[in-house]
Amino acid sequence: MRVLIVEDEKRLALSLARGLRAEGFAVDVAHDGIDGLHKATEGSYDLIVLDIMLPGMNGYRVCSTLRAAGDETPILMLTAKDGEYDEAEGLDTGADDYLTKPFSYVVLLARVRALLRRRTRGGASVLRVGELTVDPGARRVTLDGREVTLTAKEFAVLEYLAVRAGEVVSKAEILEHVWDFAYEGDVNIVEVYVSALRRKLGPDTIVTVRGAGYRMVRPDV
Ligand code: CA
Repeated sequence: MRVLIVEDEKRLALSLARGLRAEGFAVDVAHDGIDGLHKATEGSYDLIVLDIMLPGMNGYRVCSTLRAAGDETPILMLTAKDGEYDEAEGLDTGADDYLTKPFSYVVLLARVRALLRRRTRGGASVLRVGELTVDPGARRVTLDGREVTLTAKEFAVLEYLAVRAGEVVSKAEILEHVWDFAYEGDVNIVEVYVSALRRKLGPDTIVTVRGAGYRMVRPDV
């Protein structure tokens, strides 16, 4: 899952990015509203963490511009504690949730996960593909009731394939949702992770669709 953080307080932005990366998210950071809007428009994000007081363009304008353009990416707004801006206004512009500074990292992570859950199909917290379960909250995968140990990146690749189970997903799409903007390596890195997942979950769980990408199917157990 790929997250954009738009926050001009650099230390806060970096610590949030570090924390979310440690949880297996791909994270990009923008330090002003204009760059934030540009990245949000150009990239393909699963969630945006958006500060309100930003140089260039404030968070309300970034949010309302995205919504006016039909962009439905979930947005978690960060508001200052001084009450200068109220929560209702944030929600009016199309934000999905808000968090008042200062907040604990644990609370932020819980809100991020709740918003991402809402986005996955049917709002189910645990993704199921046949006998395979992927629990993004607990970062836990089971196959036929047995727990499967995955690295953070393997988990992120599997999670994205599971969200889109049954559909053909291109390597470029996987790369876009699992690796961050700064990654400039070969798109074929995705093959390495798919091979690892096949070893752990069975060779037929992720089908190669020649020239198009991969399709996740019910595992054979
Ligand atoms: Ca700010």
